[in-house]
Amino acid sequence: MMTLGCHLSAANGYLSMGEEAISIDANTFQFFTRNPRGFKAKELDIDDCEAFNKYWAEHDGGKIVAHAPYTLNACSADQKVRELAHMIMKDDIERLSHINGVYYNFHPGSHVKQGVEIGTDYIVQLLNDIIKPEQTTIVLLETMAGKGSEIGRTFEELRAIIDRTEHSEKLGVCLDTCHIFDGGYDIVNNADNVMEEFDKVIGLDRLYAVHLNDSKNKLGSHKDRHELIGKGEIGLDALVSFISRDEIKKLPIILETPNDLPGYKDEISMLRAALNQCVMRNA
Ligand code: FE
Ligand code: FE
Ligand code: ZN
Repeated sequence: MMTLGCHLSAANGYLSMGEEAISIDANTFQFFTRNPRGFKAKELDIDDCEAFNKYWAEHDGGKIVAHAPYTLNACSADQKVRELAHMIMKDDIERLSHINGVYYNFHPGSHVKQGVEIGTDYIVQLLNDIIKPEQTTIVLLETMAGKGSEIGRTFEELRAIIDRTEHSEKLGVCLDTCHIFDGGYDIVNNADNVMEEFDKVIGLDRLYAVHLNDSKNKLGSHKDRHELIGKGEIGLDALVSFISRDEIKKLPIILETPNDLPGYKDEISMLRAALNQCVMRNA
């Protein structure tokens, strides 16, 4: 069965997220490690971590994704803002060591007029500071839409970061379908070429997770506005055919569509049904 799930609120802890996921037929999920405003994390509850690990294994749960606060900016021109990103990400990685099978995804950041090169330098400094060879958690760079001065709009920009990261064996990529479409990669008409290019530039072995979102905007719009599956410019057919690709269907696939829990439940069941049909058609 495909590892499919959605973004959930972390307010009630890990076990509660695991139970919520199972209740909507999800076998993966994503959550924010802390409140993006104020950056405060809840007190780490080891009992909850252990209860979750046990529950998740019993229910055959797949890899899950922790998302760093999207308001962090590791490549800000302001040293204080950069230091905050180091501090928080170090602390997040330490906390995540208590959870089995979790990836840690983050947005590379916005260089804000400093240019991609200086921005990339700062991101590399961050990764070389926080990634330790003994850590179990893989850190993921998210592909970005290229809104404003976001770094990570092209596969080459991510490759440049990976190339200069010392322990790059702990570094991978999370592909967001809305972001790459807004970034100009045509997964509607040219998914084969897009994924070939991903493989050539970054390498498919670096791809650990997928954010599955439709987009409110057109190809190359650089906007980053997620839409419900099938209600946007990418469309249901293209998204279903994308996740039925051999290199994608084995990964954890996370919905970040504008939804409540019942809405996510419906999208998951619709996607599971559509994928089964796809498999039957190709059999
Ligand atoms: Fe994200
Ligand atoms: Fe995303
Ligand atoms: Zn987004």
